[in-house]
Amino acid sequence: MDEKCKKIMECLSDYMDGEASEQLCKMVEQHLAECDECKCMVENIKITIEMLHSLPEEEIPEDVEKSVLERLKKILFK
Ligand SMILES: [Zn+2]
Repeated sequence: MDEKCKKIMECLSDYMDGEASEQLCKMVEQHLAECDECKCMVENIKITIEMLHSLPEEEIPEDVEKSVLERLKKILFK
């Protein structure tokens, strides 16, 4: 994973939360358009989050999405 990918991954949690600035969103989207590795990663994260959403609500602890992203980041940056 190159430096740019690392930077994108660091911003990904904000991006997925919709908390990223417009500028950051553009940067992430631009990178995803040209980097299959990161694109694949985002797809996997989205699938994971969708899977969580398909569970009954009472079984999902609060801010589980954030913790999933945190965990993924730890795996990525190990
Ligand atoms: Zn990348």
